[in-house]
Amino acid sequence: MNIHEYQAKETLKKYGVGIQEGIVADTPEAAVEAAKKLSAETGTSWWVIKAQIHAGGRGKGGGVKLAKSLDDVKELADKILGMDLVTPQTGPEGKKVHKILVAQDVYYPGENEPEEYYMSVLLNRNTGRNMIMYSSEGGMDIEEVADKTPEKIFHEEIDPRVGLQGFQARRVAFNLGLSGKAFKEMVKFVFALYKAYEATDSALFEINPVLKTSDDKIIAVDSKVNLDDNALFRHKDLAEMRDVKEEDPTEVEAGKYNLNYVKLDGNVGCMVNGAGLAMATMDMIKLSGGEPANFLDVGGTANAETVENGFRIIMSDPNVKAILINVFGGIVRCDRVANGVVEAYKNIGDIKIPIIVRLQGTNAVEAKKIIDESGLKVMSAIVLKDAAERVKEALA
Ligand code: GDP
Ligand code: MN
Repeated sequence: MNIHEYQAKETLKKYGVGIQEGIVADTPEAAVEAAKKLSAETGTSWWVIKAQIHAGGRGKGGGVKLAKSLDDVKELADKILGMDLVTPQTGPEGKKVHKILVAQDVYYPGENEPEEYYMSVLLNRNTGRNMIMYSSEGGMDIEEVADKTPEKIFHEEIDPRVGLQGFQARRVAFNLGLSGKAFKEMVKFVFALYKAYEATDSALFEINPVLKTSDDKIIAVDSKVNLDDNALFRHKDLAEMRDVKEEDPTEVEAGKYNLNYVKLDGNVGCMVNGAGLAMATMDMIKLSGGEPANFLDVGGTANAETVENGFRIIMSDPNVKAILINVFGGIVRCDRVANGVVEAYKNIGDIKIPIIVRLQGTNAVEAKKIIDESGLKVMSAIVLKDAAERVKEALA
């Protein structure tokens, strides 16, 4: 699960990570009040208005703007709230901005120039260890740095038996070229950030940029957090940060029925039991000339109700030209699934697109008979190759 920048920063602060302070707002008036409050608390006289959406690259899309007066704050808040923000990560339709973060300006002039770094904590699946990835080249596309100057990206692997060690945090500060107060601040920052990552059972904490201010403070200016869904039951406070407005509405709907649904761009809807079979089915759809419209794993219980919910969700996508149901009857019997399909079909009624059902496993022959004798416009198959042929015919 992803959370917003303002929520991620609240979380970081709780664990002692220095942050760019801010207050979230959902109207221009609230933004002005937030700006006044921030000035009273931090002494800032400029502010940054930051669109809160679950996507990066907001600065490039016009979702991060500097305000030098309260009038600016109001004007920019008015402009950014409600806009469909397009960034390199949102796709061409963009994402609607419902909230903004009014933050203190932390790029104020001083003794030194402010400097931007990159830092993330994540699980390295190759070694099975957490790692800190960092670079002096922050603020910009880290993908580009990785591509063009990979030697500028450093890693620190954490041994789970002893945790993050002092020498490792010091090596981070050293490799970033820091000294004096900034060095000490960075060591503290790294420890606090790692603690936040571990304590929240996160899969990723990405801070880009980490800023060295002109007076040598180290703070998080941006924050992207990906929480491990499987650990959310241990973090009720974090689970409450979920913003369903940021998620695909059909996927949210599917979640209510315990269906694992991921929307894709193709024209053949598919309903399958088991994630591995679902992947194989998507391959097969491609081989027969179609493009999968979705991934849908109905899990172990493919009964009439699940099939009906699955049908409705798949058909809410106007691109779908055919539906392929591919179920292996291991624990669930194929005849039961076949009855479920027939019942669901009758309940929904007006289905205009061809449906191909491939049932294999326990009672597969009986199941095919049920489908064939139902009098409905459903094509049946037992062998996967036949099902693929039917899909091809349906698309022709
Ligand atoms: P992203 O574009 O979604 O990654 O959003 P960020 O939070 O990283 O902000 C984008 C850019 O806005 C940063 O790299 C900074 O250059 C700029 N920015 C952020 N905060 C401030 C600030 O307080 N003052 C100034 N002048 N610029 C800022
Ligand atoms: Mn950023």
